[in-house]
Amino acid sequence: MKDQKKILVIEDEEALRVGLEENLKAVGYETLSASDGPTGLKMAIQNKPDLILLDIMLPGLSGYEVCRKLRETGADMYVIMVTARHEEFDKVHGFEMGADDYVTKPFSINELLARIKSKLARGRRPSGKGKIKFADCELDLEKRILLRKGHEITMTRTEFDLLAYLCINEGKALSRDQVMNDVWGTEYFGTQRSIDSFVASLRSKIEKKPAKPEHILTIHGIGYKFAR
Ligand code: CA
Repeated sequence: MKDQKKILVIEDEEALRVGLEENLKAVGYETLSASDGPTGLKMAIQNKPDLILLDIMLPGLSGYEVCRKLRETGADMYVIMVTARHEEFDKVHGFEMGADDYVTKPFSINELLARIKSKLARGRRPSGKGKIKFADCELDLEKRILLRKGHEITMTRTEFDLLAYLCINEGKALSRDQVMNDVWGTEYFGTQRSIDSFVASLRSKIEKKPAKPEHILTIHGIGYKFAR
């Protein structure tokens, strides 16, 4: 199948890794797997999967490190972090490292499959052409890159989608619910707090003073508004 999506599972618990692969194959995905951080990172770079399921506690390199190093190479596939219940997932840290979403073990396979489907179905939404300029930034909607002072800023797909969505809706007060539905899709299971974490990460990339944002403004009790 030509448009078969490829998913890389990086997980050191063998039973979980094998089970995940079986479930993913059963619904038509091609799978690859690795049981430690360095091998997983190498496979991600070489095989360019569409999505990675990434455990946090891994031999060799943690999931956070794998994600960070992967993003440094410019890789923009979706990354869903898989975290055990006893280890508190640090959302801001995880999203800063470039994760798009996370699930907590034990999770329902149907919920995970729904999240994967919603990520992969997103494609290039929101679509738009041309360039949006503000302050020292230039967002190229066609090439899907952000330049700041002429230098490309590393972003995840989710960060890009969110920033593009905010820019396209310049001047409108957008509720968190609306942003969640439009950017993440109705199958998104994350909380409104996760949007705040993404916004914090975006502000660190585009604002002169992230603590006193001039572009991604918080509208108290509602959500966000973009201003040039
Ligand atoms: Ca583990």
